Amino acid sequence: MAKEKFTGVKGMNDMLPQDAPIWQYVQKTCVDVLSSYGYQEIRTPILENTRVFTRGVGEVTDIVEKEMYSFTDSMNGDQLTLRPECTSAVVRAVNEHNLLYGTTQRLWYCGPMFRHERPQRGRYRQFHQLGAEALGMAGPDIDAEIIMMLARMWKALGVGPVKLEMNTLGAQEERQKHREALIAYFEAHKDQLDEDALRRLYTNPLRILDTKNPDMQGLVDAAPKLLDYLGEESRAFLSRLEELVSSAGIEYSINPRLVRGLDYYNHTVFEWITDKLGAQGTICGGGRYDPLVEMLGGRPAPGVGFAMGMERVIELMREVGQVPKASQTDVYVLHHGGESQAKAMLLAETMRDRGIRVVTHPGEASIKSQMKKADASGAEFAVFATEDELAQGTVGIKALRAHEHAPFAEQTLVATAEAADKVAEALAALHR
Ligand code: ATP
Ligand code: MG
Repeated sequence: MAKEKFTGVKGMNDMLPQDAPIWQYVQKTCVDVLSSYGYQEIRTPILENTRVFTRGVGEVTDIVEKEMYSFTDSMNGDQLTLRPECTSAVVRAVNEHNLLYGTTQRLWYCGPMFRHERPQRGRYRQFHQLGAEALGMAGPDIDAEIIMMLARMWKALGVGPVKLEMNTLGAQEERQKHREALIAYFEAHKDQLDEDALRRLYTNPLRILDTKNPDMQGLVDAAPKLLDYLGEESRAFLSRLEELVSSAGIEYSINPRLVRGLDYYNHTVFEWITDKLGAQGTICGGGRYDPLVEMLGGRPAPGVGFAMGMERVIELMREVGQVPKASQTDVYVLHHGGESQAKAMLLAETMRDRGIRVVTHPGEASIKSQMKKADASGAEFAVFATEDELAQGTVGIKALRAHEHAPFAEQTLVATAEAADKVAEALAALHR
């Protein structure tokens, strides 16, 4: 009988060990920057009650209309959804635990999100977002600070130039007037609307502006612009944001077509875009969502945040050659089994006490085949806890990589008791 084969779910990827260093590097680099702006981590469950998203993201968005993995809990009939994004979940948690009572919050999260999309480069069904929410602060200073924080992350990661586009969605009354004008405009050109646009005409006409249909570009370009409907306050908000972003030396352009599908977004929206990833070039999106906290049952409080797509950021880093060195091992310890293996294991422990990453050869094998493993491990040094050496109270140390003036370029005997210190010094010399 043929053996049964198992494969992962379509559009959901394994992160293999050779990719671990870059994932860890990206998260750590971003989190270091987030910490330097006072952000703290929050973790919410991967499942939420579906209402959190239908209410929090909005009924007439791509996400809620067609991308959510929702199911009925067969135990109790609850309607549950695998989170397609995390802002709604964070706000749900903040409200539930009263985290905004008399204070503000700066929060970050990182983890898998789930959307039932057509898988392609840069677009998956399970993907990862690293994001942040600043809650209880009305801006635009905080909006600008988030942009500055992201610019700092791109620099720290070394992703090369990424374009910042910003726009404003104004206030609700302004959007309402613009919306009426949009509906009237599109009604007058109904024959040019595609199926998606017709469906959205009365539910979410703003989203029509976001169409990817080339046949509708002309129509959409000439549509009424929200910028022309902004009142005094919204204009002032945007110009203060522009002023702060400019004075930080960050280049941007205003893209009046940039919209977020969600109804509760107001004022600032932004995206960071690269031209190196084809169609999926947006590596990060964000904006202000002042009505959301109240919509999800909390006392009114403003909010602004962003989410970056980790897969896209990592792919961009690969494109520009910014992949960190993959070695996970500093030292490989070889031995002759038996008593020498026991000593090798103890020696490895003394090295780990000094923070050195050590692999001891598992089981028994010839020194030649252990050397092959040592080399393949990526370790900088081999330590020979072999019988003859141990009998003299020593171990041999040998550099495995060619470095100019590297210590232990030739195999050298050192007292067993000093081996850990010697290796630690040699590693420090390499990393200087
Ligand atoms: P898109 O227009 O590409 O579908 P979106 O507006 O749906 O993006 P957001 O909800 O704003 O995306 O999510 C923020 C970021 O998360 C995106 O800019 C992108 O980098 C990433 N992202 C979104 N959906 C996916 C996905 N299916 N696979 C991988 N990354 C994604
Ligand atoms: Mg999408």
